[in-house]
Amino acid sequence: MSDVRNLIIIGSGPSGYTAAIYAARANLEPLVFEGSVTAGGALMTTTDVENFPGWPDGIMGPELMDKLRAQSERFGAELVSDDVTAVDLTGDIKTVSLADGTEHRARAVVLATGSGYRKLGIDGEDRLSGHGVSWCATCDGFFFREQHILVVGGGDSALEEATFLTRFAAKVTMVVRRDEFRGSKIMQDRALANPKIEVAWNSVVETIHGEDKLDGVTLRDTVSGATRRVDATGLFIAIGHDPRSELLVGQVDLDDEGYVLVTPGTTATNVPGVFAAGDLVDHTYRQAITAAGTGCAAALDAERFLADLE
Ligand code: FAD
Repeated sequence: MSDVRNLIIIGSGPSGYTAAIYAARANLEPLVFEGSVTAGGALMTTTDVENFPGWPDGIMGPELMDKLRAQSERFGAELVSDDVTAVDLTGDIKTVSLADGTEHRARAVVLATGSGYRKLGIDGEDRLSGHGVSWCATCDGFFFREQHILVVGGGDSALEEATFLTRFAAKVTMVVRRDEFRGSKIMQDRALANPKIEVAWNSVVETIHGEDKLDGVTLRDTVSGATRRVDATGLFIAIGHDPRSELLVGQVDLDDEGYVLVTPGTTATNVPGVFAAGDLVDHTYRQAITAAGTGCAAALDAERFLADLE
């Protein structure tokens, strides 16, 4: 079948492009679906990236993604800026469909569609992303030395982010919708014992203030309805993330939260010839370099799978 490719990669973040670089250099001529509006992945929405190895002075997120893209093209990856709207991964030949009805087929597929951070859904949140608003303490905490940071959320990840941020911040205020945390007792105890952490109970962020960078928020009391302005230069939103796995329901095994399950130590899903990488799989690390690392592993796993077919 001449129209059956070796490999299709779905996703264009660090994991998708790194898989594409490795697969292209292995002469697999991968076809990469980058997505339409979100090509380049999560780092397109941020400014300085200071923790990607190889960039001692840091690099802007979109510039890093342009470079990964160019590197994958240099070795012959075919890039298509379209969304995949349906997949049939179960047979020996996998089919990937686009909105216009076009179908593409391959013997192996790498899934690298990432995950989306949940947003508050209020004005200014996207505009000030990378300018005071963040979803990742590991990534951005360092930029907020001796400043006042707000952390929104009451679960384990919010408690962990708030505790981590006290390494840098003068003060951290947790904004918690109810009058109790949802997170584990041990994380709560740790946060409440930290002299730098305060909690605004029964509170939600109503308005984000700042033109070019964040300078404060208005909090609303969920019980009394009263509002108050709080000055802060950092707003970390830690209300969860959702893996982009809607397409994959019924195709590969997912865990209870929708992350793709892989055989530990590999990128293999339960379906032969289908591999998964990056934040789509990762509950824990969610970093550009870990996504790139598993993208590399997925390409190598796919290459071996294809070699065994010959
Ligand atoms: P993503 O980067 O999310 O890319 C997945 C892409 O796949 C999507 O964007 C889209 O283009 C494509 N896609 C999805 N669905 C489809 C479909 N149906 N069809 C075709 N294409 C599709 N990490 C760091 O290491 N350092 C940082 O400083 C840092 N800063 C961050 C700042 C922000 C604001 C955010 C949101 C994240 C940050 N991260 C940082 C985390 C990092 O961006 C992610 O861990 C990384 O991008 C995950 O890579 P990925 O390839 O798994 O997925």
